[in-house]
Amino acid sequence: MHCPFCGEADTKVIDSRLVAEGDQVRRRRECLSCRERFTTFESAELVMPRVVKQDGTRQPFDEEKLRSGLMKALEKRPVSIEEIDAALNRIKFRLRATGEREVKSMQLGEEVMTELRQLDKVAYVRFASVYRSFQDINEFKEEIERLSANSGEDPVDVAKVLAGNHSSKGKA
Ligand SMILES: [Zn+2]
Repeated sequence: MHCPFCGEADTKVIDSRLVAEGDQVRRRRECLSCRERFTTFESAELVMPRVVKQDGTRQPFDEEKLRSGLMKALEKRPVSIEEIDAALNRIKFRLRATGEREVKSMQLGEEVMTELRQLDKVAYVRFASVYRSFQDINEFKEEIERLSANSGEDPVDVAKVLAGNHSSKGKA
């Protein structure tokens, strides 16, 4: 970072602290040549990869769309907004961490399922049934039964959840 006063290349960081809830680093710097002090703000580049749909079209990553997808799957389920936000942030983090400029929509769907599987099995069944469009429904039932067996919780009635998914009244 060049000194904005004299153009000297060497500047020393004299103080560094997190700001904006840890999203930014504020640094006080001192020029080693003219001794002027100045402040810089650094933040990570928060560029999300674009989403490549199955027909090959590209779309910008749409956080609101992702959130509404999660909310819809979690409708009337005992999961807080905080938990949904945390799940959303983990998905975004993992997508950014790929370092790719584009991700397949399928990968995005898998990320959502990974989170829903942890959050709420009923929501997982709802999302996955729509997402996978019933092609592997038996495999899917087996997976739910396996999840239920492992967790020791009440088993999820897959047929009931799926019936709720597709009723015109939308009654859960
Ligand atoms: Zn200077």
